[in-house]
Amino acid sequence: MAHPARKEILGKIEKAAKIADRKASDVTFIAVSKTRNSDEILPLLETGHRVFGENRVQEAAEKWPALQADYPEVELHMIGQLQSNKAAEAAALFDCIHSLDRPSLIKALAREMDRQNRNIPCFLQVNIGEESQKGGCDIAAVPQLLEQARESGIAIIGLMAVPPEGTNPAPYFALLAKLAGDNELTQISMGMSGDFETAIKLGATHIRVGTALFGPRVI
Ligand SMILES: *Cc1c(COP(=O)(O)O)cnc(C)c1O
Repeated sequence: MAHPARKEILGKIEKAAKIADRKASDVTFIAVSKTRNSDEILPLLETGHRVFGENRVQEAAEKWPALQADYPEVELHMIGQLQSNKAAEAAALFDCIHSLDRPSLIKALAREMDRQNRNIPCFLQVNIGEESQKGGCDIAAVPQLLEQARESGIAIIGLMAVPPEGTNPAPYFALLAKLAGDNELTQISMGMSGDFETAIKLGATHIRVGTALFGPRVI
């Protein structure tokens, strides 16, 4: 079944990858389905899309188990801030977590993964614009958090960031890519509806796209 918005985004991914001399297949297109109900998500599933992102544990737990009963190969990514007291539920529900950003959360998730015998690949989220009140660890804290995760048995596969709003994201994308390289991490989660092509040109391996796919969010 055709999905015009998805098709258009896939075309843009292809083009941006080509310009950067990369393969489009090296970019994971995460459909950010936060605030969207099952009726809005189903057309994407029917067209073959399998990778989705949510930012709230509770909302994901309400929507996805029923959808996954019909589409068991769905891959669910947690992209929002995560409370340590939701670690158990998150470890059970998600296939990848992009928002690891502090020692207490690493500890809580490591314990839950152990307990549930799950080994969920994670990204370390970096507060790349050094904004107050924003999720993500300080740039300077990256090495020690990577070390803590390694010691706790959590596989950190890359870095994730959301650049400051209303600024040119390119320098922040470039900085995140450099940080990943400096720390020998190969995966980079960056780029949203307005800037995923720029992100791909600067090395994104995971883009998180909501509005361009589903239309404007009401809430
Ligand atoms: C909502 C959200 C997105 C998607 O944003 P759009 O502009 O709708 O594409 C990406 N990443 C994170 C962390 C988000 O919370």
